[in-house]
Amino acid sequence: MYLDGLSFIEDGSYTFLFTELTGEEKIQLIPLDFNNGKGFGNVLVDLANLNFERISFIIRNLNNAKDDCNEKNLETTLEILNTMLVDEFGFICGSLIQSDFFCLLSDYIKNKNEFIKTLHNYNCPDGLFKDTDYDDWGDRTIEHLLLSILPAVGTSLAACHKISSCIAANEDLELVVNLFTKLINNQRIDYKISVMGGKITPIYKVHNIFSMISIEVSKILEKDIDINICNNCKKFFIPLNRSDTQFCDNVSPQDENKTCKEYGRYINYLTKTQNDLATKLYKQIYNSKANKAKRTRNIIFQNDLNKFRLLAKKYKNRIKLGEITEDEYIIWLKDQKLGNKED
Ligand SMILES: [Zn+2]
Repeated sequence: MYLDGLSFIEDGSYTFLFTELTGEEKIQLIPLDFNNGKGFGNVLVDLANLNFERISFIIRNLNNAKDDCNEKNLETTLEILNTMLVDEFGFICGSLIQSDFFCLLSDYIKNKNEFIKTLHNYNCPDGLFKDTDYDDWGDRTIEHLLLSILPAVGTSLAACHKISSCIAANEDLELVVNLFTKLINNQRIDYKISVMGGKITPIYKVHNIFSMISIEVSKILEKDIDINICNNCKKFFIPLNRSDTQFCDNVSPQDENKTCKEYGRYINYLTKTQNDLATKLYKQIYNSKANKAKRTRNIIFQNDLNKFRLLAKKYKNRIKLGEITEDEYIIWLKDQKLGNKED
């Protein structure tokens, strides 16, 4: 069974349509539970976040990579590829990438020579054929054909990234609209009216990544959904409640037991306590030096106070620039405090 399409229902839930390729078409509807905070936009950002190089790694590690590109071998390949993509990228993204390969391989089978020619429309990314015997698009082996197709799949994934960046930066949406106009022929969408749960329900059946994101983006713009960049992992995410949410709910790269949101809260707490400590130390030292200068009316102590204020200011600026940490500033303050006592 292959993923033949993915359907959208108006409320933002998704259904996968699987088709038996051999014999009669069988459609299996697998409703997914998207109540758990998922909705329109999440698939787009998941695709935008994924590591494209992993797909090339998967292709190079296929068992039958060096086999001929006949239909039977390609069918087996799609099956293996699907399992590996789902393992790597999860069910939705993995299946969608596989559907892109499926679409392109179907075109290939229809007219092999013509199809290879169309691949020249895509730029060959650096290192695509690195450490292989191939140097141009072609179908000498399954590995060769899949690597040749990869830039076409990459175009859709790059579009996901570009669109997410534009929306996250609140940039002129004309860029997004232009991208659509340019790639409109890549859309493969069937629109059907069905009855689900006694209600007339429009269903979009999409056949590749670009169709999927076309619908996602139209919904994002229509429903005014925000895309944010996580302050911790720097990946795109859809904020659930507040549009100014800074951290995502994915596992944080620093601590696998915490989400970025939990990790962010912990870091904010740590920074705040450190800030509090630095401010407390600064005030203690400042007051002590100021009192001494006032009491003795000695220019040496007045100069010492001025020097301290100036240096503390420099430390704070360097923290802002990221040149030193708050910890280093605190250590310096503690030294100053100790110096004061010795006087
Ligand atoms: Zn994050």
